[in-house]
Amino acid sequence: MPFCPECKYEYLPEISKCPDCEKELVDVLPPEEKMSDEPWLPLRDLPGNMYAEMVKEVLDNAGIPSMIKSDVISSAYGAKSVSAPGASAQIFVPEKYHKKCRQIILDMMDHI
Ligand SMILES: [Zn+2]
Repeated sequence: MPFCPECKYEYLPEISKCPDCEKELVDVLPPEEKMSDEPWLPLRDLPGNMYAEMVKEVLDNAGIPSMIKSDVISSAYGAKSVSAPGASAQIFVPEKYHKKCRQIILDMMDHI
């Protein structure tokens, strides 16, 4: 059975184009994107692990997954750390939370 790759609708075999999306139908739908393939983006550099832990706690409370990397050249994420060892930490969050996290951190920094 042909499927529309856009709307995922299943059509009869004699149909070759989706009338709604005007897309060529395909026999097999591409696999859904997995959560684990989601890119993680670095938030701002924090002046030390203490701040990083604080931010992580706030994000945890907000239900946002995060991970801390300190003093690491995180080449896997395309981020550069130029700080001296022990001097800074970075927090990574999934891309879809990035904007929200930046706002949370900005709010937080106002109160420090
Ligand atoms: Zn369609």
